[in-house]
Amino acid sequence: MSKLRRPLIAGNFKMYLNKEQVKGLCRAISDFLGQKRYTDRDILVCPPFVYLMTAFESVDRSLVSIGAQNMYFEKEGAFTGEVSFEMLKDCGATFVIIGHSERRKYFFETEELLRKKIIAAIGAGLIPIYCVGEKIEDRNSNRHFDVVKRQVAEGLRDVNFKADNLVIAYEPVWAIGTGVNATPEQAEEMHIFIRQIISEMRGAEVANSLRILYGGSVKPDNIDSLMKMANIDGALVGGASLKAEQFTRIIDYRI
Ligand code: PEP
Repeated sequence: MSKLRRPLIAGNFKMYLNKEQVKGLCRAISDFLGQKRYTDRDILVCPPFVYLMTAFESVDRSLVSIGAQNMYFEKEGAFTGEVSFEMLKDCGATFVIIGHSERRKYFFETEELLRKKIIAAIGAGLIPIYCVGEKIEDRNSNRHFDVVKRQVAEGLRDVNFKADNLVIAYEPVWAIGTGVNATPEQAEEMHIFIRQIISEMRGAEVANSLRILYGGSVKPDNIDSLMKMANIDGALVGGASLKAEQFTRIIDYRI
């Protein structure tokens, strides 16, 4: 069975690993892909900023793309501690994660800021992976659709996105790093809902072609059932992307 949209399996290394470990992991992923030679899926790794070049130099770039976990929306300037989209591109990044729930929670990133980052990333030719997802209290009080709708609508308001310059990741906060994943049915339901919002914003053609990833405790033992869902177009993987054996099994999903 082939998927409607070309799946993307992305690893978010978060603030883990040292240089040698990034090198070893990226080589292992690249070697695995060299053997498998998939023609039906895209693979991405997102190391910490300081190891972007290490990752870039450790993979076969025809098999593995490189992404960053964050960026600033200005091209350059007196913004001590920030990293611009131009710098990411200079290090070989083609994707950038925007609005991960850990950025929202610990660094107070708002939709207004995320929107600026998305506009800047797209303008620079980077593909943002815009993360949305509700907290457990939102789901328990049946507000999860409202929360995600607001995140999508505000983060993408007046953004000139198309199906090939943006990826959305649905990452329910209660599933990230907890070992409790959303069921394939819960994820599918939200992905369909997000696709409807995109359709209202940009029309059915963009909505039907846009990739929507699921993220939240994706592991070797749940990836196959998640990927069997028609509207799940890949995964954003945190913890399990840090171990080559686990991440390569996720890459090697079977549907
Ligand atoms: C993430 O970092 O985006 C994530 C989903 O983490 P984990 O897979 O560890 O839940």
